[in-house]
Amino acid sequence: MLPTLPTLPGRPDSPSIPQPSLRRLPQYHHYLVDLAAKGISQVSCSVIGRDLNLVPVQVRKDLQYTGIIGKPKTGYSVSELVQAIETFLGWNNVNEAFLVGVGNLGTALLGHERFSKFGLRIVAAFDTDPAKIGQWIHEKAVLSLDKLADLAPRMSIHLGIITTPAEAAQEIADEMVKGGIQAIWNFAPVKLKVPEHIIVHNEDLYSTLASLSWKLARRFKVPIQEREAV
Ligand code: NAD
Repeated sequence: MLPTLPTLPGRPDSPSIPQPSLRRLPQYHHYLVDLAAKGISQVSCSVIGRDLNLVPVQVRKDLQYTGIIGKPKTGYSVSELVQAIETFLGWNNVNEAFLVGVGNLGTALLGHERFSKFGLRIVAAFDTDPAKIGQWIHEKAVLSLDKLADLAPRMSIHLGIITTPAEAAQEIADEMVKGGIQAIWNFAPVKLKVPEHIIVHNEDLYSTLASLSWKLARRFKVPIQEREAV
């Protein structure tokens, strides 16, 4: 059976949705925005399936989670579907977030302005390095970590991003929970211990990379040691 996500916080009417369907919604959104830019106003499941290499029945099921049902001959209105996906994903309700760990990755995320198109605005950053505290990076203030738990409820921040070394991540997650943060986007390669109601999404780039290099190694069927010796 496919794993399901719990009902999203703040939107009690959102149904549970299998993770694979949820992960495909941004792909549909990207595709539909492209169609709209080309002046296409209607699209069917079969066309979407053909263009995105998905089975049309799956496309129909995925899109049903957004509350939009296609019409038998005409299919879907592209603009309605774009709206429905944005509403379902909460993209039209920008989430303000705190980021902790202003190193290589944290700085890059702070400078990524396109996040606002996907419902995320990082409003402040935190670090423990005295050389970074008090600076402005990509127009975001870098504050001392000990201010986080107090500021989060005052600024109604519900989302936290962790981009610190693994050994610091648990302490930061604890601070976030203390500050009432409800969801954590964790880039540190460590499993966080948090209360059950906290949503944690781990962005484990190293696992993805491990899987990629393992598949590549199998494709060439050359032992890694031999390749390194070349
Ligand atoms: P980095 O060393 O460049 O930056 C880490 C930052 O965290 C520094 O500014 C440091 O002062 C801060 N920090 C350390 N302890 C802290 C604490 N207790 N509270 C607050 N801030 C603290 O590291 P990076 O390369 O940006 O990587 C960050 C995390 O992301 C790591 O866990 C890493 O494994 C993971 N990651 C990074 C990349 C990448 O491309 N850089 C890729 C995958 C995963």
